[in-house]
Amino acid sequence: MTNNMFDQQLATADYRLQTVSDSRLNTLACFTYLRSRFMKPIQEIYPLLSQMRKVVITTHQKPDADAMGSSLAMFHFLKQFGHTVTVVSPTNWAKWLDWMPGCKEVIDFDTNKEKANEALNSAEWLFCLDFNIFHRTKTMTERLKELKCTKILIDHHQEPDSVSFDYGISDAGKSSNCEMVYDLITESGNGDRINEEIAECIYAGVVADTGSFRFPSTTSKVHCLVADLKSKGLQHSKVHDHLFDNFLENRLRFTGHVLLHRMQVFYEYNTVLIAIPKSDLLKYYVKTGDTEGLVNYPQSIQGIKLVAVVIDRDEERKWSFRSKGDFDCNRFARKYFEGGGHFNASGGRSSDSLEVTVRKFKEALKENTSLLQ
Ligand code: 5GP
Ligand code: MN
Repeated sequence: MTNNMFDQQLATADYRLQTVSDSRLNTLACFTYLRSRFMKPIQEIYPLLSQMRKVVITTHQKPDADAMGSSLAMFHFLKQFGHTVTVVSPTNWAKWLDWMPGCKEVIDFDTNKEKANEALNSAEWLFCLDFNIFHRTKTMTERLKELKCTKILIDHHQEPDSVSFDYGISDAGKSSNCEMVYDLITESGNGDRINEEIAECIYAGVVADTGSFRFPSTTSKVHCLVADLKSKGLQHSKVHDHLFDNFLENRLRFTGHVLLHRMQVFYEYNTVLIAIPKSDLLKYYVKTGDTEGLVNYPQSIQGIKLVAVVIDRDEERKWSFRSKGDFDCNRFARKYFEGGGHFNASGGRSSDSLEVTVRKFKEALKENTSLLQ
């Protein structure tokens, strides 16, 4: 059902509730209908964790440290109950994530459809982590939509497509999806199952999504989580090395090139734009994940409120947005570039050429002048 259809049905149900409130039966039917359309709270799966199932865990395309970390933490956690668990990624991921415990067992849907479909076909539970609408899985979208198994959402982005899931939790206030998996493990009374493997996966996602504990989403609970992981054997320096000191020379040279030659600063809008043509990607042998983190550098310029990076990928122009303070990146990405995400970090896309999409961005800046002061 599309969102529109769902909204219409909600409106109809609401209308019925008002007009036939004298009929208890009708009212009850409406409530039952409404409840059946919304995902049930994640807590309702806690008693079911001990019943063995075939489980597939999936995440968004080009998974980053939080997506991969939360998927693998969940993988190691569920395996302890005896479930058959498979992690399926819609696409490939950055090579420098391969150190994560269990990463070698992850199936890439794009390059191994047969094995991925085998797991999906027999899945009784499908966990969807770090995304909240199926189209974030690109070529896997239709496959996930048609699956009849129980679908469970754990996510921290805004505006979840809740009607697509049976159970779940969506909390845009959380620092990372890894924090949400940690909450699930501890709240379900299984904190003692957190071993070094799970701790490393969770810590990696928390570090990545909080910008190393820098963003406002880093609550006291996040620091308590880290203390708990430390007490369970986490070697945080090892994870830090894997995440930040684990690249090839070309990545650093590419970053230098881009900051020197592709960065434009628009002081009138307190905005930085980096537009990267395909030729740069080819020249510096840029691979999946090599452009991650680029969007953070210009945030160090005094007074900058918005940073936008657009990369000329084969199939689309892909945007990353980061803001400081009260500029809503999620709204901006949704309004102008078919995207979304969080208040201070979002992404989007465009089918236009790099030149046209940059022009549209500049027009959007004009429209947002007052919000960018
Ligand atoms: P990044 O810039 O790191 O790729 O993404 C920033 C945030 O926005 C992440 O939480 C990511 O999941 C989300 N995001 C990135 N691209 C898109 C998109 O095209 N659509 C939506 N809805 N979210 C996106
Ligand atoms: Mn995340």
